[in-house]
Amino acid sequence: MNEKHVTKTHLSISELFYSLQGESTRAGLPCAFIRLAGCNLRCRYCDSKYTWENQGEPRTLTEIGNWLDRYPGVMVELTGGEPLLQEGIYPLLDALLDRGRTVLLETNGSLGIERVPAGVSVILDIKCPDSGMHERTDWQNIALLAARKRKGSGDEIKFVLSSVRDFEWAKAVIDRYQLDRLAVPLLFSPVPELLAATTLAGLILQHRLPVRLQLQLHRLLWPDRDRGV
Ligand code: SF4
Repeated sequence: MNEKHVTKTHLSISELFYSLQGESTRAGLPCAFIRLAGCNLRCRYCDSKYTWENQGEPRTLTEIGNWLDRYPGVMVELTGGEPLLQEGIYPLLDALLDRGRTVLLETNGSLGIERVPAGVSVILDIKCPDSGMHERTDWQNIALLAARKRKGSGDEIKFVLSSVRDFEWAKAVIDRYQLDRLAVPLLFSPVPELLAATTLAGLILQHRLPVRLQLQLHRLLWPDRDRGV
């Protein structure tokens, strides 16, 4: 990513697209996606390397707003890459909320969410060991999620699992941080090439975990497309 584009008035964009939401409890709903370029992590299973291998396109907040005007009233998701790396994300979030949009922000869990407005629903990834990135997690975000929940935020926590070892680790994290008491949805999403959904489903039932199995709907619908879905 070209650092000169990381300003309050410009964002470095990997792609803008309109599709169905493929993840979270909003899966299946139409959604306008703003995918930001650049990421501070390097997960082994990353399926969007193009967001950090390629330089993004600089776009002003006005240009992004004009694109969104094509989809009035539609839910908006900011994703990446890692959106919180760019300072311009904050005025964009404020502008979207001011326009009455439902706003989701997917973040990789390594950066603090304290500046994200309570009206935005954060989808917080907690990286598991087989991602290779679990030691980068900012655990202070758990307390921030609890505080945001008291303000009415519609946040969610997502674990992407590559193995049975990841499942055991995620289960231990839920116990250690009492995540089930946060009353936010806990999503368990298998890496399709590494952990069979049926295996994960069986483990969730066997251990009676209060989590939601999440399959990536966009990959089921459009298995041959790796962008724009
Ligand atoms: S955080 Fe997301 S975009 Fe960044 S390397 Fe991991 S999977 Fe890829």
